[in-house]
Amino acid sequence: MSARTLFEKVWQAHEVVAATADTPAVLYVDLHLTHEVTTPQAFTLLRERALRVRRPDRTFATMDHSTPTDRAQLFGAVPIRMESAARQIRAFEQNCADSGIELFGLRHERRGIVHIIGPELGLTQPGRTIVCGDSHTSTHGAFGALAFGIGTTEVAHVLATQCLLQRKPRTLAVEVAGALPFGVTAKDLVLAIIHELGVAGGTGSVVEYRGATIRALSMDERMTVCNMTIEAGARAGMIAPDETTFEFLKDRPRAPQGADWERAVETWRALPGDPGARFDRTVALDAARLAPMITYGTNPGMSVAVTGRVPERPGDEVHARALAYMGLEPGQPLLGQAVQDVFLGSCTNARLSDLRAAAGLLRGRRVAKGVRFLVVPGSQSIKREAEAEGLDRVFTQAGAEWRESGCSMCLGMNGDTVAKGAYCVSTSNRNFEGRQGSGARTLLASPITAAAAAIAGRIADPREFLS
Ligand code: SF4
Repeated sequence: MSARTLFEKVWQAHEVVAATADTPAVLYVDLHLTHEVTTPQAFTLLRERALRVRRPDRTFATMDHSTPTDRAQLFGAVPIRMESAARQIRAFEQNCADSGIELFGLRHERRGIVHIIGPELGLTQPGRTIVCGDSHTSTHGAFGALAFGIGTTEVAHVLATQCLLQRKPRTLAVEVAGALPFGVTAKDLVLAIIHELGVAGGTGSVVEYRGATIRALSMDERMTVCNMTIEAGARAGMIAPDETTFEFLKDRPRAPQGADWERAVETWRALPGDPGARFDRTVALDAARLAPMITYGTNPGMSVAVTGRVPERPGDEVHARALAYMGLEPGQPLLGQAVQDVFLGSCTNARLSDLRAAAGLLRGRRVAKGVRFLVVPGSQSIKREAEAEGLDRVFTQAGAEWRESGCSMCLGMNGDTVAKGAYCVSTSNRNFEGRQGSGARTLLASPITAAAAAIAGRIADPREFLS
């Protein structure tokens, strides 16, 4: 057999029926992650066709997108304010109960954002195929899984068959060398990669992140990188599993235990690409040349170093429209731009390490007057761990709001939104028009750049606040 990449190994192990010139391949799905927003129509479709969920044991459910982050609403002291959210939550509870799907419901102690609790529980494992009705399913690729977002109709297909029709993607290697400089994080790295590739640069491809820089990243950092792969148009992002991966997964409640663990690790060790395996395309990046990044436009590829200026692109209509929406001028420095909101959260950057990094800057400082700083942990487990370390007090004493877990202001479906025209430095993954609320102006950045903005009340260089 010829040398194969990580992707080819996982793909071939799950290909039930190979593609033909006229038909896509049939791919087996090991794990189907579900949530309250992209499933109602899928369950309706199943009911209309009198179909049952084929593998409830390979389906897992949580609530995150429209759940309140306000404690009183979450724990029932007051009703859920948004009727649409309350309705989705009730319907999902019923659908899961009717289908025998395990649900970490609204008040479950381990509930959280689907892409955060999958790894946290050890459901996410190397070599698995994982799908979910959410674009940022690519996060799970950090473990060497082939993981991608699917549409609502596909959610119904997977519920009914545990399989998915797929055209085989191309392979794209992103080779990263060089140590991340002071103040430069995994978020800055992935923003730089998207900038380099362009928002359509990965279209039709599965990206494998490789090189010494990637190998040196923690699992939290690898998840941040894979999470945003989709923003370069790619189908999925993957990182070959190694000792860092195994150490993260060991003793997680849903990871293999005892002798099964030893057998699993042996299998996982065979997953990295073979020497000489070829990619359809390779892109190289020197991480040592990077600076903290921030976006200025309305897609994640529109980014510059935080010390840079808004690019000038005469004749580029897309660029001009983006700047008009953002209320920014070509040539304008980003540093010093006033901000009204800061959001630390989302499946990109709401893990314990992200909260620790931001709290490190906040300790002994205050959030600037007139700035609302919303801190939303990625899961209830992360929230508890952060509270045990006193991070919640660091945030609240600085003047930030400390919330229950959920997607929150990443997409504003639960009512946590940014006002029209307001600027929000956000650790989430999308800065599309209206993503955080109608007319909201999103500037994507790392947790420490977000914390620096909260303290300064304007876009600031996080390196000035790091000791
Ligand atoms: S945090 Fe944002 S990107 Fe992540 S799962 Fe929730 S809505 Fe999707």
